[in-house]
Amino acid sequence: SAAGEPSTLHVRPEGLPTHIRHYIGGKHVDSIGGETFDVLEPVTNTNYLTAAAGQAADVDRAVRAARAAFDRGPWPTMKARARARVLNRIADAVEAADRRLAELETFDTGLPISQALGQAQRAAENFRFFADLIVAQRDEAYKVPGSQINYVNRKPAGVAGLITPWNTPFMLSSWKLAPALAAGCTVILKPAEFTPLSASLWAQIFEEAGLPEGVFNLVGGIGEEAGDALVKHPDVNLISFTGESATGKIIFRNCADHLKGVSMELGGKSPAVVFADADLDAALDSTLFGVFSLNGERCTAGSRILVQREIYEEFLGRYVERAEKIRVGHPSDPDTEVGALVHPEHYAKVMSYVEAGKAEARLVAGGTRPADLPEGNFLRPTVFADVPRTARIFQEEIFGPVVAITPFDTEEEAVELANDVMYGLAAYVWTNDLTRAHRVAHSIESGMVWINSHNVRDLRTPFGGVKASGLGNEGGYRSIDFYTEQQAVHLTL
Ligand code: NAD
Repeated sequence: SAAGEPSTLHVRPEGLPTHIRHYIGGKHVDSIGGETFDVLEPVTNTNYLTAAAGQAADVDRAVRAARAAFDRGPWPTMKARARARVLNRIADAVEAADRRLAELETFDTGLPISQALGQAQRAAENFRFFADLIVAQRDEAYKVPGSQINYVNRKPAGVAGLITPWNTPFMLSSWKLAPALAAGCTVILKPAEFTPLSASLWAQIFEEAGLPEGVFNLVGGIGEEAGDALVKHPDVNLISFTGESATGKIIFRNCADHLKGVSMELGGKSPAVVFADADLDAALDSTLFGVFSLNGERCTAGSRILVQREIYEEFLGRYVERAEKIRVGHPSDPDTEVGALVHPEHYAKVMSYVEAGKAEARLVAGGTRPADLPEGNFLRPTVFADVPRTARIFQEEIFGPVVAITPFDTEEEAVELANDVMYGLAAYVWTNDLTRAHRVAHSIESGMVWINSHNVRDLRTPFGGVKASGLGNEGGYRSIDFYTEQQAVHLTL
């Protein structure tokens, strides 16, 4: 659209709610004290709904419902096959909701519609995967001949508190819901306050799939209120948290009072290391996608690109040319590649990094909003070159379409630069020297490494970070282990 004209591409989904409530013990309810908070959409930054803001009393009500469902059963004691049937029905319903989910997620988060499509498929896959896993689960048994038999008696860990961030919120909540439910826990989900819309779909999906009442509960609200009360509630056995490292530290401290089990997936500043012998076309495709897809609001974003000096100028030239062609536009336009950042507060934070970057390095692309999008949280793909390791834009997570590119000379220097940040979530290595690829992958301090590939993950593999990027792993049996007590039973022969 011409500058200033309202775009017909800003689609407002049909049937948007104007108010969303908690879901506790099978009922949609408001906060006991009637507290609410406003939710805005990031294209016009206007409020479009109010959501119930959970307080300690609301969280307590949800925990009591979850505890009752746990104690009363049948969910925790159901046979794996019976639980798996419910999980598969959930997967079918989630998959069928793909288009609806995409339009809601796009409206609420500013994610490009083309990238929001398929999120339901991935969420559904999480449920199918954990359904299969619990049916195929093997437990260990050991025999000490003539003396003892020992075996592992797995039990669901109890009531799990699940706290999720605002990026790809529906899909990320499925990462926690699916294994927690598969393991037989009952849960309370506290979605992020910026983007609570898609989580409000879960209640109906679970009801229709036959999940018993009280097994799934949702309390909306602000992190420091609802989230804090959930973490501090003495009858919540576990907390699974995805969000910022700074929040993770607070939650870890609060869990200590009750020695609560905790799993944390936190922030990142992941390096993509491109050696001179790499397949440059593939590396360019991947490193562009790695930081500019999902608006750059992705925990595993390859937000630092380290490039070997021999190819540095060529890589940079081609990277900038491609970055400038990326289409920034209305999230609901199918041609859009970068949409609107989630919230004006987050936009201001990202823009403050752009300003800091200008003083620390060389701005070679972007740095401003597109001329035809005078409002909303839009930013052109932004590329900084020659970024020194001391720069804030090298060290700190920006969580937007902003990338720092830095040259290196030797393999040793590349590894040193890669590791010289507080984070350690993902890393990407581009080289056609197979031995070096593994050597570098092993030397990088990160929970995950992709060699000559990007961010496609087999659900059986561990997902998690080291250093300030996380604590514990999710993924495959590791998730089931987290939501399970493993009791060792010893029997004398
Ligand atoms: P955030 O830490 O601000 O909030 C995450 C959640 O925690 C929200 O639901 C929030 O309400 C809640 N919360 C905030 N303060 C709390 C408190 N004191 N007690 C309990 N709960 C509290 O994070 P965000 O801005 O929503 O999400 C972006 C961050 O998440 C980025 O750092 C990103 O890298 C990270 N992330 C990590 C992964 C991963 O798997 N490692 C995945 C996605 C996002």
